[in-house]
Amino acid sequence: MNLIFLGPPGAGKGTQAQRICWEYSITQLSTGDLLRAHISKGTNLGKEAESFINAGNLVPDELIIALIKEELLLPQYKNGYLLDGFPRTVPQAIALDKLLDELKQSIDLVLVLEVPDEDIVERLTARRTCPTCGKVYHLVFNPPLSEGKCDLDGSDLFLRKDDNEETVTKRLKVYKEQTMPIIKYYQEKNLVQSINGVGRLEQIYKNIKSILKSFIKEK
Ligand code: AMP
Repeated sequence: MNLIFLGPPGAGKGTQAQRICWEYSITQLSTGDLLRAHISKGTNLGKEAESFINAGNLVPDELIIALIKEELLLPQYKNGYLLDGFPRTVPQAIALDKLLDELKQSIDLVLVLEVPDEDIVERLTARRTCPTCGKVYHLVFNPPLSEGKCDLDGSDLFLRKDDNEETVTKRLKVYKEQTMPIIKYYQEKNLVQSINGVGRLEQIYKNIKSILKSFIKEK
């Protein structure tokens, strides 16, 4: 099963993606996580991408497409994957289609997690992430058991540099202008299922599961 997960920054894609991937034995491919790994390793790609990310802008399409082309060939994606944070522009969606044709693969479903603007800033500025395993927390709604430490590996949680109010507002604008048009692109291919991303994490996950169950049954 190959999925795309869309939704504004802070919709909760990362958190839900981890659970979906665990339960359905598919691999999460987050371009944001890959780029952050490049930045912390100090690679050329990391150096090029950093200023775009910190300003809340998108990294240029050609860099992202090259990254995905290399990544999707790795064996861990053989049994299915969930694309989290990619594609983010129409040219990226078109490049993905071309790549999938070459690989004789296709996308089964595009899940869109919907959250109103007013919730986004509050959610992201209260978000904390584990640098080791990537687990995401919310200081109020999904806090770690011990303050500032990851429940799974005890690492010190951090606030992403791009999770401040000014950058979040910019990222939201970029999402609307550059990423939302790809929802229409996939609607025309009849692949889109929307989910309300407001409410308890458990309930949102249940709704996602029922969509995935009926998709698997129909197959
Ligand atoms: P995320 O972790 O998905 O919120 O991504 C963090 C930042 O990484 C974004 O604000 C972009 O600057 C960059 N980024 C991640 N994925 C992409 C993509 N598919 N295209 C362009 N930029 C991206």
